[in-house]
Amino acid sequence: MGMWQVIGQTRALSLLKRGLAAGSLAHAYLFVGPAHVGKMVLAVNLAQALNCEAAEPPCGECLSCQKIASGKHADIQTIGLGQGNSTEARPRAEIGIDEIRQLQHSASLPPFEGQYKVFIIDGAELLSTEAANCLLKTLEEPVGKVLFVLLTTNEQLLPATVISRCQRVELLPLAAAEVESALKKNWGVEPQKARLLSRLSHGCLGWAVCAQDDGLLSQRADRLGELIDIIHADYEGRFACAAQLATEFGQNRELVQEKLALWLDWWRDLMLVKVGSTDLITNVDQVATLTEMAKAHSLAQIRNVIENIRVAGAQLRLNANPRLVLEVLMLNLPEVGRKRVKNANVKFENTAERRP
Ligand SMILES: [Zn+2]
Repeated sequence: MGMWQVIGQTRALSLLKRGLAAGSLAHAYLFVGPAHVGKMVLAVNLAQALNCEAAEPPCGECLSCQKIASGKHADIQTIGLGQGNSTEARPRAEIGIDEIRQLQHSASLPPFEGQYKVFIIDGAELLSTEAANCLLKTLEEPVGKVLFVLLTTNEQLLPATVISRCQRVELLPLAAAEVESALKKNWGVEPQKARLLSRLSHGCLGWAVCAQDDGLLSQRADRLGELIDIIHADYEGRFACAAQLATEFGQNRELVQEKLALWLDWWRDLMLVKVGSTDLITNVDQVATLTEMAKAHSLAQIRNVIENIRVAGAQLRLNANPRLVLEVLMLNLPEVGRKRVKNANVKFENTAERRP
């Protein structure tokens, strides 16, 4: 039935297809899943399915489907803080009440050119409290031919009252093999690159598709370079790096979390290489470097680093002092073939004492 573009997500899809076939769709859905897993693609597909003019919706080809795909259909509205190019420095902000009021007004009018009005709220966790309360009223008094689709990467940040008014649909990361084959088949990515991107994407196909153009891959290369520099740096170098990262954190928190995620991948890979499971690693293009580096570290050291990176990430999310968190992380990295800077231990102890 229809040309659904979302890849994988069989459970979510079959739930929506059943609802469509039986005419028993909910008035509001909450799509939950990591960034780039396919929430927006599925929401747009659903809007197409509701407005498609073909016998087997969504056809993807009729005027209605095309307009929706290009964001030009008068009855489909998407609000949010802009869909994420994660490399962009964007200050955190909220979806305000004015946007929700506008959307409510629009929902009160009949469909303009299609059969169904669909309102997609991207990043619903960013709704301000006022906006969420305002939206709640609409969700409590559903109108026919109007569908709300809320997308979120973190439902814990949404009020329980809003969640309870929506039907929850979870989108899970795909298997690496699924991403790899979709990249080759649907996007014509060459095999080696498809393999690397599928691993780096952690099952979020949208990320891999975005990364095709090499921007994200060259950014990754820079970040890997930085990581390897840090591993080989002396304490002075590591302190400098902690300071720089703390400054970056002040400007763009997500960017530092992304770097930590990359470091975590790297050290997990080292662990996998160490225990002989090289076939499971993420950085499949770095086997030689990983193998070499694995020799220089014990399993216990690697485990420690993994734990320390996790703790640092969690502390940063809890608003701990970024400079201190990052210094502790840097100083706890094992030393690799560089001599200790004089008094580094003293510095470290002082840092530890200052921790809250
Ligand atoms: Zn169509």
